[in-house]
Amino acid sequence: MQNYDHDVIIAGAGIVGAAIAYHLAIAGLRVAVVDATGPAAAASGASDGAVSVASKKPGPMARLANASLLYTRDLAATGPLAGGFASRPAHIFGTGGAEIAAMDALIEKLAALAGPVRVVGDGPASRLPGMGAGIERLVTLDGEGHMPGHKAVRAYLATPGITPIWPAPVLGFDSDDRSVTLRLADRSLRAGRLVLALGVSTAAVLPGLPILPRSGQLLITDRGPPNELSGALTAAAYLVAKTVDAPTVPLSPVVLDPLATGQYLIGSSRENHGDPGTVDFATLRSILTRAVSVWPALRQRRVIRAFAGVRAAVSDGLPIVGPIAGDNRVFVATGFEGDGICLSALIGREVALMLRGLAPEAGVAADLARLSPSRFAPALLAAGAA
Ligand SMILES: Cc1cc2nc3c(=O)[nH]c(=O)nc-3n(C[C@H](O)[C@H](O)[C@H](O)COP(=O)(O)OP(=O)(O)OC[C@H]3O[C@@H](n4cnc5c(N)ncnc54)[C@H](O)[C@@H]3O)c2cc1C
Repeated sequence: MQNYDHDVIIAGAGIVGAAIAYHLAIAGLRVAVVDATGPAAAASGASDGAVSVASKKPGPMARLANASLLYTRDLAATGPLAGGFASRPAHIFGTGGAEIAAMDALIEKLAALAGPVRVVGDGPASRLPGMGAGIERLVTLDGEGHMPGHKAVRAYLATPGITPIWPAPVLGFDSDDRSVTLRLADRSLRAGRLVLALGVSTAAVLPGLPILPRSGQLLITDRGPPNELSGALTAAAYLVAKTVDAPTVPLSPVVLDPLATGQYLIGSSRENHGDPGTVDFATLRSILTRAVSVWPALRQRRVIRAFAGVRAAVSDGLPIVGPIAGDNRVFVATGFEGDGICLSALIGREVALMLRGLAPEAGVAADLARLSPSRFAPALLAAGAA
């Protein structure tokens, strides 16, 4: 065994770093997870948690989400995600040309994928008891699920073999052909491999990465009778918002998720800035107005909290996953925008395989290769310069 402090250091205790750490630890590696603040301190703790194939762009993202959903179900059946992931229907509603067209495209995409998510209803909105008036069409999907990010992070990190190190802001790193050294404020840590899973902050350590902050706001209500609503209620505008720039979205892209606690999680907006402290009342009003019109029972609830998180968006719309150019010791796993909760199980498994020098699982290799940082090779020459 090499004389390292750890076999692998993961910088970032969000859901992506935690999932990678879990998969390395169960393979018997000595893993340290370093975070500036603590587990799920950034986007993973301020997200909705939909494990959704419906909302993914057709192509690699939809196929990877399909594979991740299936694997998440496995981890919930027999592994660390038991009690964290819950299957539930997803009801997509729409009014007007752009939303109806997005629903048509969704049905086409799911048919082409032929995966675990199936259309089980398509008709007028009145088919869902309790739904408000003025909604033209409702498509119901079976097979998707919901997983609160903070729960999954804590479950992964409870695995024996993972050493937690926080609060410890990462300042930078150095690597050579024998090891990689992570620089913290008061010490350095040496390891065989390093994974940078710092979410939107990864660009502070690798300044060449084309990561754009995209904030999102959410509301949460008080508790009430559970199961008023059987699954997520998602505006088709949300599907549009995930594929085009926010100003062209026709109506408020609301998603209403009923939680096991009897609360409703209501979200979420997309703003091109990185301030998690900003709560914009006009945006929240627009989300709430549409949420109440589509689900009038919300009038009986109080909003107890509004909060924002920052997604890490990438200029070409794909995450960045793999070894950085010219360095087989330093890996990146970031840029998951609004899809990191959904993709985390698969990415955790696959990055752990990469770090161990093993081949990807059958069926995902080509799509994973599309996520390689080598597509930005010239920009990455500034590596480790924080
Ligand atoms: C409003 C909103 C709604 C969302 N809804 C969904 C959804 O329904 N479904 C879905 O799949 N995804 C959703 N997402 C996206 C999802 O939350 C992210 O893609 C995912 O959490 C990213 O995880 P991560 O581990 O890459 O990053 P993060 O969770 O951001 O973790 C990065 C970690 O790095 C740490 N860190 C940062 N800088 C440093 C440093 N210098 N040194 C040490 N540590 C550092 C932070 O403290 C943090 O813990 C949503 C996001 C938002 C904001």
